[in-house]
Amino acid sequence: MAKRKLLFITTGGTIASVKTKNGLVPLLTSKELLAQLPELGELCQPETLSLCSIDSTDITPDHWVMLANAIRENWTGYDGFIVCHGTDTMGYTAAALSYLIQGADKPIVLTGAQQPISGEITDAKKNLRDSVITAIDPASRGVMVVFGGKVIAGTRAKKNKTISYDAFASVNFPALAQVQGNKLVRYIPTPYPSAPLTFYRELSPKVFLLKLTPGMSPALLESIFAHYDCVIVESFGVGGIPKALMDGFAAGLGTYEKTGKVLVLTTQVTYEGSDVGIYEVGQRVHERFSFLEAHDMTIEAVYTKCMWLLAQNCRSFTELQQKFYQPINFDTFFQ
Ligand code: ASP
Repeated sequence: MAKRKLLFITTGGTIASVKTKNGLVPLLTSKELLAQLPELGELCQPETLSLCSIDSTDITPDHWVMLANAIRENWTGYDGFIVCHGTDTMGYTAAALSYLIQGADKPIVLTGAQQPISGEITDAKKNLRDSVITAIDPASRGVMVVFGGKVIAGTRAKKNKTISYDAFASVNFPALAQVQGNKLVRYIPTPYPSAPLTFYRELSPKVFLLKLTPGMSPALLESIFAHYDCVIVESFGVGGIPKALMDGFAAGLGTYEKTGKVLVLTTQVTYEGSDVGIYEVGQRVHERFSFLEAHDMTIEAVYTKCMWLLAQNCRSFTELQQKFYQPINFDTFFQ
């Protein structure tokens, strides 16, 4: 069988970094990066595209759209795509691409490293190799993160260690597969897409993520709602809103049909998700205004799904609700 043709799109990050007197800087071009691992040519036909050379701290939603556009423009020419990316915001980019590229029947793998590929001790080569093993598997499709041997759905990946090689966790959902040597051991099959391949080109910038802290003042809520259409609240535990903030939220939100403003409740606890109906501090929110609830979704997925959703210009809260709870790339199991 002919070797699969893969496009390696590089964006920078530690994987492509070299030591300078100002710290690690992503200076390697995509060709220089792949030249470090010539044996990849035995597994696939690699080609490269340099999209940018930045630390992922500097990645913005414009880069997510640029990435989706680059993949769209090259879609028919390749069997799969490997995006090399800094690890710090890779979870956000993987989630954003999951919403920007839907119904994908080819693999789009994001990977990176905790140590530069040019270093003597590095996880970069293994992660790149594992990404290729994943991308050449005929049953791989959709957006995934491959890191530390794990294959994680693009909407479930979270960086939860700053130093260690197993830096990414699959949150509230099992890893899709594990790479063992040259083998991909698949735990969760990704069904062939039932919807047609769709590339979206827009994300709304009007989404704000507010992390609650005990005793937070309501003073800022007015200006947050004046600047943003969607406020995602990272509340405590299974979810609720402090008494002192309730009037501020009610005033800022109004009703979606009149103001176009929406509130999404999630939790600052990484695992097991929200369940706002459990306590009185959550039930009082249900009684006071309409909101969406993240349940088992990651913050990265909620944030980017809201950016995608707001760009769809939903006419009613019901339409918004229906689209928000519609599962995309394993992002939620709440029905
Ligand atoms: N600061 C780097 C980045 O996100 C960290 C990494 O790639 O591991 O670009």
